[in-house]
Amino acid sequence: MNLPPITPRFATLGEPYSLPIPTRPLPSAQLLHLNDGLAAQLGLDAGTIGTPEFAALMAGNTPWPGYDARASVYAGHQFGQFVPQLGDGRALSIAEIVDAAGQPQELQLKGAGPTPYSRHADGRAVLRSSIREYLCSEAMQALGIPTTRALALVGSPQPVRRETMETAAVVCRVAPSFLRFGHFEFWYYRGEHQRLQPLADHLIDRHFPEFAGDPDRHARWLTDVVERTARLMAQWQAVGFCHGVMNTDNFSALGLTIDYGPFGFLDAFDPQHICNHTDQGGRYAWDRQPLIGHWNSTKLLQACLPLLGATPEAAVARAQPIADRYPDAYAAAMTARWTAKLGLREHRDGDEALINRWLGLLASSKADFTRSWRHLARISTRDDSPEAVAGAGLREEILDLAALDAWLPDYRARLRGEQSDDTERAVRMNAENPKYVLRNHLAQAAIARAEAGDASEIGRLFTVLARPFDEQPSFGAYAAEPPPEARHIEVSCSS
Ligand code: AMP
Ligand code: MG
Repeated sequence: MNLPPITPRFATLGEPYSLPIPTRPLPSAQLLHLNDGLAAQLGLDAGTIGTPEFAALMAGNTPWPGYDARASVYAGHQFGQFVPQLGDGRALSIAEIVDAAGQPQELQLKGAGPTPYSRHADGRAVLRSSIREYLCSEAMQALGIPTTRALALVGSPQPVRRETMETAAVVCRVAPSFLRFGHFEFWYYRGEHQRLQPLADHLIDRHFPEFAGDPDRHARWLTDVVERTARLMAQWQAVGFCHGVMNTDNFSALGLTIDYGPFGFLDAFDPQHICNHTDQGGRYAWDRQPLIGHWNSTKLLQACLPLLGATPEAAVARAQPIADRYPDAYAAAMTARWTAKLGLREHRDGDEALINRWLGLLASSKADFTRSWRHLARISTRDDSPEAVAGAGLREEILDLAALDAWLPDYRARLRGEQSDDTERAVRMNAENPKYVLRNHLAQAAIARAEAGDASEIGRLFTVLARPFDEQPSFGAYAAEPPPEARHIEVSCSS
């Protein structure tokens, strides 16, 4: 094997931020899928990734030479309640390297065995949730949404008890850093405020070098994270992604989508859709995600108050304007997304009403969120006949045809007002509105087959989702809405 050399960064912070914990071997581990593209980006050559030794590394059965696997400690607000200690209960960092582009990257095995932060749980992850995390990480990457990546998926016959007996799996995930809002909350609420600065400076030095050395670096980093979070929420909304468990321990200090659990993509558009069966109050419903992104940002700022001023008053005075950046950053990012999704070149006064009426149409018809935008790209600015609209597919999605027929002339007029060219606009819209997203029923089909011993559907889905904006005629069925019997798949926190 020819592995890139270790360049420890987080590990050098040492205890008590993280502890060396060996991975626990996984019996009869089998590599179910490997992300060749990411492997190449990480500088892993074809000769290496094809070896049994590399598969053993991805299973946690052997250590990465020169690195002691580590678990880090964090806290977090879970469904609004503060939990003083969480931490990597089943994820272990197994390497820190520099990728082919010179970017630092950390590799983590999720499901690699218990740690001191497992809180009586088994340290394992099941195949079902591992397939979902593996596929969705890369689907989000292909959608252009900041996310942790997934390098390898390993399965094993080892039984794991959840609601039923399932089998164990490991995902090797990759990110420049896995630091979460909760890493900062841990030290703040413990009252060990002197631990905050080394952690923040580690993050800034490695991942925000443009702020390093500046006396105001903590405020600048926090401003950046708050704005990244706001933009991330707009990106989630735009593709109908529902995270499911937006606890502060599942929010990345780099503004990445992290911890794919009971996530979902909207099928029939319901703004109040709750993707996580466990979230009975709907705290993390689709239409509440932007608000929760703000709430979580204020929790991060609170935890970092000791970095922002010598006195509590001074710190709050510095933190408040940073928190206040969120609404504007979100609104600007969301407006940009809706504008592009509608195929408009620029935002103009009055566009909000156009967007809101369109979203209202989708909601009242429970139209398929993904398909409807693709149909809209085929609307002609010249031909307003019902046949043209039917040809675009919209008359099948929207039940309230009178409302559709009232909205379309305004949309066409708005397009004509900027001399929109139908062909060119369709190309732009199709590069913004995905055709293929990881719908629950697609993931479920891959899971059912893999549980029966056939992992091939994972590979097929991986291939389709790698090009979400392209027409892929041989995979047309993957763009369909769920069949009636699959409309109410329930996904819970169990993983
Ligand atoms: P999650 O709901 O996956 O974001 O996890 C919340 C916390 O529970 C984190 O500290 C996880 O590491 C921990 N956790 C979840 N599942 C397990 C498990 N099977 N074994 C050990 N720790 C777990
Ligand atoms: Mg988590």
